[in-house]
Amino acid sequence: MAKFLEFQGKEYFKQAGIPVPEGVVVNTAEDAATAAEKIGKPVVVKAQVLAGGRGKAGGIKLAATPDEAKAAASEILGMEIKGLEVKQVLVEEQLAIKQEFYAGLIINSAQEVRGPVLMFSPEGGMDIESVPEDKIATLNVDVIKGLMLHDTLDMVVSMGVTGPPIRGLADVVLKLYNMFRAKDCRALEINPLVLTEEGKVLAADCRMEADDQAVFRHPEFNIKIGREFLKEPTELDLIGWSFEASDFRGTSYIAEMASPEEVKNGGYVGYHGIGGGAAMLGMDAMNKVGLKVADYADTSGNPTASKVYRTVKLIMSQPGIEAYFLSGFMMANQEQWHHAHGIVKALREELPKRPGFPVVLLLCGNKEKESQAILKEGLADLDARVEVYDREHVYDAKFIGGRVKTLVEEYRKDQASA
Ligand code: GDP
Ligand code: MN
Repeated sequence: MAKFLEFQGKEYFKQAGIPVPEGVVVNTAEDAATAAEKIGKPVVVKAQVLAGGRGKAGGIKLAATPDEAKAAASEILGMEIKGLEVKQVLVEEQLAIKQEFYAGLIINSAQEVRGPVLMFSPEGGMDIESVPEDKIATLNVDVIKGLMLHDTLDMVVSMGVTGPPIRGLADVVLKLYNMFRAKDCRALEINPLVLTEEGKVLAADCRMEADDQAVFRHPEFNIKIGREFLKEPTELDLIGWSFEASDFRGTSYIAEMASPEEVKNGGYVGYHGIGGGAAMLGMDAMNKVGLKVADYADTSGNPTASKVYRTVKLIMSQPGIEAYFLSGFMMANQEQWHHAHGIVKALREELPKRPGFPVVLLLCGNKEKESQAILKEGLADLDARVEVYDREHVYDAKFIGGRVKTLVEEYRKDQASA
């Protein structure tokens, strides 16, 4: 899921009309002091990492003066919270908290719900999981009917809130839902939603997660790849993602695993798994025979032939790979002939460029016979070392890995004598 830091989410809160404390995000202790100076009031210095429980981990500190803000920031910057290094802090106007509430939305994918669930609780500031059920008002929102102010007023009142804060809280909860929809969120949470001593209602925290599949609709997110991606995307990664962003039929996941320089040193195969578990088995098989994968690719969920074709073309584009390996260690219930067609088309274009190239294809599951025929007939006339395997070898990773290895060795001999 596309996750956002607190300060990023709060920018969207502002745009959605949800009040937030005045704040500045910085990455040095000096800038934290300057920010505190500018705010001109006591501040709170908050670690910006994609993890909750920062308070308990010491990642949130109150500071009465710019000097204190500087000291707090230098303590927090560089700190590790749940394994994540803190590189930025948010310096924010301190709130005089009268009461902490919770407001949040998630998507409940369960058959009976399949939609957004809105939650409101007067027990803010702690994990919502640890709040007793009778202290949380929940509402399964009908996305067609939408949500009205009277719905959120009812929720707030049902939790025992009285007097003037009712309106401010209900207003924020309604706006939270509207933002959740507008930004295609899977989760959006304010914890705590603060009622101040002066009677104002502000979002003191933000947890925001958007749907990966909707990232392409939100250029403002500035997310290059709509999925959890721990490294900076390479050109190959970005091309791979463009297949996904432009075609939602089935999935294609591609990540570059080795740099072109590494691949040129030898021992790398173009790697194509079908489904996560199958892909792991195949990677293992490669490791065991002393080969490495140049990329990780996974096409599953009944992708179209065109998606598979584009994936194979990209795999084959890595210079220096010594084989193409389709690692279908599973009895897939997707119709495998789409894979067969896509693979044949891509390999018919690519293999003539490299005579004798090793190709090992393991493809099993639904429409297996037809798929096997498409692969065998489609590649028969090519000058390449093509071996096609079916369900007889579906879990025979040792054998399949050995075949890849043997063909790679033969191919190397060809190359050496050429
Ligand atoms: P989390 O621990 O990662 O969820 O971080 P939060 O942003 O929710 O902050 C944790 C706690 O710090 C809140 O529940 C508050 O009790 C406290 N806190 C955060 N901001 C302020 C503030 O402006 N003033 C005061 N007094 N406390 C704050
Ligand atoms: Mn919080």
